[in-house]
Amino acid sequence: AIVLDKVNKWYGSLHVLRDVCLTVAAQERVVVCGPSGSGKSTMIRCINRLETHQEGRIIVDGTELTDDLHALDTIRREVGMVFQSFNLFPHLTILENCTLAPMRVRKMPRREAEALAMGYLERVRIPEQAGKYPGQLSGGQQQRVAIARALCMKPRIMLFDEPTSALDPEMIKEVLDTIIGLADDGMTMVCVTHEMGFARQVAHRVVFMDRGEVVESGTPGEVFEAPKTERLRGFLGQVL
Ligand code: ATP
Ligand code: MG
Repeated sequence: AIVLDKVNKWYGSLHVLRDVCLTVAAQERVVVCGPSGSGKSTMIRCINRLETHQEGRIIVDGTELTDDLHALDTIRREVGMVFQSFNLFPHLTILENCTLAPMRVRKMPRREAEALAMGYLERVRIPEQAGKYPGQLSGGQQQRVAIARALCMKPRIMLFDEPTSALDPEMIKEVLDTIIGLADDGMTMVCVTHEMGFARQVAHRVVFMDRGEVVESGTPGEVFEAPKTERLRGFLGQVL
């Protein structure tokens, strides 16, 4: 489970997260939406401590995120993250991208790491690309590698930050279908996306952020069909 309790964050004098409270239960799937600059990326980056918050508490699977290095270690093992720009290592093959962290961080022997990686590359339906370099793959394929790479660390939680927004339309579906497959397996997920069809299909809950605040949260039906605030109505008018 993930618990954010009155989290506040500033960049200099810019207050980007304002008393953010959010609880994501084990196996729950939460979609986060909201206008550009509302703090969505900042919030999920705080969950795996790519960013630090200044006030409030963040607890991930019972570990509170603090400056303690042991906590950081735990979080990096348990939380997988997939970014908008795939962030693969360009000079490593697809297979090497996937085996790097299990070998370095989990001290897994190469053979075992490769077998694990091939399993996940099959899972995202691109095992035949294992020997290629990221630059030789399409955007959708690279993003599926990024998902496989994250899964190789056997995370209990997956965070996605607009995983399809850098993709051409014809590649969006293949990536969303991959994520839907993880959802079917009961992975705990937080996904920032404006793909409303996807949100309806997989989200247990949709959270709407605006100007650093969680403004509304509810089932996809509640949030999309019965918005309570003018801010959410305005946002939905633009994206739907
Ligand atoms: P988008 O939909 O465009 O991705 P977002 O909701 O993810 O937007 P964030 O990236 O979390 O928004 O940014 C929240 C606010 O914090 C914005 O005003 C942004 O300009 C600011 N911000 C983000 N990262 C930094 C940074 N490293 N330094 C200073 N300000 C930042
Ligand atoms: Mg963002």
